[in-house]
Amino acid sequence: MQSQIKQRLPGTLQGLVDEIETAAGVEIEVTHAPEIAKAPLPADSLVGTLAPALFCAVTHIGPTLADTRFTIKYARDLAATIRGYCEPYMAFCHELLHLRRYVVLRVPSVMDRMSAPGIPEVVMHGLEDILEHLVIDRQLKDYGFLVPAEDCDRRFWNQFSANAAHTMHFKAPVLLEWLRTRYLSSNIGIQKRADQFVEKCGLLGCAWRLLDEARPLLDLAHPDPADAKLRLVWHFCKASEIPLQAVAIISRRDDGYYQGRLV
Ligand SMILES: [Zn+2]
Repeated sequence: MQSQIKQRLPGTLQGLVDEIETAAGVEIEVTHAPEIAKAPLPADSLVGTLAPALFCAVTHIGPTLADTRFTIKYARDLAATIRGYCEPYMAFCHELLHLRRYVVLRVPSVMDRMSAPGIPEVVMHGLEDILEHLVIDRQLKDYGFLVPAEDCDRRFWNQFSANAAHTMHFKAPVLLEWLRTRYLSSNIGIQKRADQFVEKCGLLGCAWRLLDEARPLLDLAHPDPADAKLRLVWHFCKASEIPLQAVAIISRRDDGYYQGRLV
């Protein structure tokens, strides 16, 4: 990372940058990119990224690990706060923690935008991002951010009709947001709204079963985070009726990145 940028970060984040860059073998590039603030958010932007303030990217420009670039783009301010990421540098730390999972822990990612032929994009959209957030947003406290991130929005539950239940289009986003609410919201009102909605459409049993399966896999002390991620995706897709053979996964290994299917 450019030294004039790294010097501005809190000490805990400087250590995090070192850890990632050592594992990556290349530097993280931080880029001021005002245009990301102007990009229109997708229609279902209630779920997903910290756009339009910040985002990170892993770009594969060739077949080997040395050809991979790690970028964090910011719209206005490195220390930007956004939505429930209310402390300076908290959102920046969130992006670094994404990179730590992918690079240091070699956690595979679901190619949720491009994979899954035959599965509507709305079903897969945000899957990778939110499953990762279930872990990384609970790690922010280890880096000095003591106020928990609160990125769940009550309005999410108004966009669906409970009558549409039991289709893949419905189950995946609803179960994903319900799981996110259990893990990442301390707002009792939002939790109640989520439970009521899921109960109304007859999915509460399914949701609790998924939570039972997910809980050990989302343990922050899990000894094998990469394997835990694959199992989590497997359970999530089963519960949501997403065909497993359609889900593409990309994994980091010693000599490059490999794309495969979930089964
Ligand atoms: Zn994120």
